[in-house]
Amino acid sequence: MTSERSKTYEKVVTPSSGLRLHLNENTAGCSPRVFEALHAITRQRAALYPDYDTARQATATRLAVPVQEVLLTNGLDEGILAAAVAALRPQGLSAAAPSSSAAFTTPEAIVVVPAFDMYGVCTSAAGGRVVNVPLAADFSFPLREVLAAAGAATRVVFLTNPNNPTGQLIPRADIIEILRVLPQALVFVDEAYADFAGESLIGDVEARTYRNLVIGRTFAKAYGLAGIRAGAVIAHTDTLAPLSQVVPPYSINVYAAAALAAGLNDAQHYDWYLAQVRESKSLVYEALGKLGLRYWRSAANFVLVNVGGRVTQVVADLAERGVFVRDRSRDHGCAGCMRVTTGVVEHTRVFINALEEVL
Ligand SMILES: *Cc1c(COP(=O)(O)O)cnc(C)c1O
Repeated sequence: MTSERSKTYEKVVTPSSGLRLHLNENTAGCSPRVFEALHAITRQRAALYPDYDTARQATATRLAVPVQEVLLTNGLDEGILAAAVAALRPQGLSAAAPSSSAAFTTPEAIVVVPAFDMYGVCTSAAGGRVVNVPLAADFSFPLREVLAAAGAATRVVFLTNPNNPTGQLIPRADIIEILRVLPQALVFVDEAYADFAGESLIGDVEARTYRNLVIGRTFAKAYGLAGIRAGAVIAHTDTLAPLSQVVPPYSINVYAAAALAAGLNDAQHYDWYLAQVRESKSLVYEALGKLGLRYWRSAANFVLVNVGGRVTQVVADLAERGVFVRDRSRDHGCAGCMRVTTGVVEHTRVFINALEEVL
């Protein structure tokens, strides 16, 4: 367990051309219906503050939750920020006289690492302290260590299910246990990749009885709206209220609102993309197996593979061939590893050919 005081997001250099398999984006693009909806926005509508009723209802319908349990956010990143601020801001400040500041303990966020950078970044931004709990060496979920790291200062626990970058799922019973044992903390379950895993806590009746559960979703990955910026946070209305306070009233722009309403209704494009991802993963597993490389079967739209000590060179050599993958070798427990997005099958074949050449 380590703790750190401040963290910044490592923004990766974005290539202007080539095959972007480094950010887990949708490599097929959004639904054509989204594109039509964006084009239908008039000059007049662009000039008005947006109304979210239709987008929010479409999101609630698609995710099968009551509309009052949905908070739309400017990407899931904003949902993470809202949860961090809501959970970590000083509470009951008025009761504490300045002289009693010695009694003030810095609120803490538990982050299971390796993890998406934004949990640490937002915790720091909100004035909290990050308590990192590492995954086991085989990437299994460290339930005992998470519970041991939790204390009176713990206000939020960030979990990613399935995990990025390992692609591993957290056992459902472990999440339930954390919800049960830490009622004073928000348990933020980031389901950015749940579409690909085919499982979610949203419809889990038992999990949803815990008021400290907050579920994060994004439409950046499976729905291809990363550039549009659209995410959602799902929680019981009482739990959601302090997060809603943090999100500005017009955080989602008119294009994102229109894109959501259109994109969420195009099940055909979504199902097709999920099938592409499944096929891409099989092809990658097969190729990596033949190359004798260690990899982890993934519940998401990417695969983590260990190419060994030459990883940085391999990533550079792939980039030279126009194929961009993410070097994850400096992540906790990921020495020698890189992560590749598995989207459109045709793109995956380009990656596999390039990798075979490079090695
Ligand atoms: C991509 C990603 C997000 C951010 O999604 P946006 O909607 O693009 O902000 C959140 N969590 C995880 C784990 C991600 O990989």
